[in-house]
Amino acid sequence: MPPLGRQALNLAGAALRLAARAATGAPVLAPADVLATRQAHCRACEQFRQSDARCALCGCCTGRPLFDKLLYASEACPAAPPKWQAWLP
Ligand code: SF4
Repeated sequence: MPPLGRQALNLAGAALRLAARAATGAPVLAPADVLATRQAHCRACEQFRQSDARCALCGCCTGRPLFDKLLYASEACPAAPPKWQAWLP
């Protein structure tokens, strides 16, 4: 798990991406099929922590309303290479 400062920066970056996307009028939420694919990748990933449903690479939460990074269209997997991408229709 990254240090708390890094996690805070990750969260701030996600909020900025979400706001930038909303400002353009683009959808901020990923559609259901994209969300399901992201969830499948995370649940099968070695970085996924079953105990609290968080990604050990970025510290982001999954499965919690508002704080579930998988919900947001502009988010992407932090792995290299990423296991899933931002959804940019
Ligand atoms: S966001 Fe990427 S690295 Fe993190 S648990 Fe999901 S698939 Fe794995």
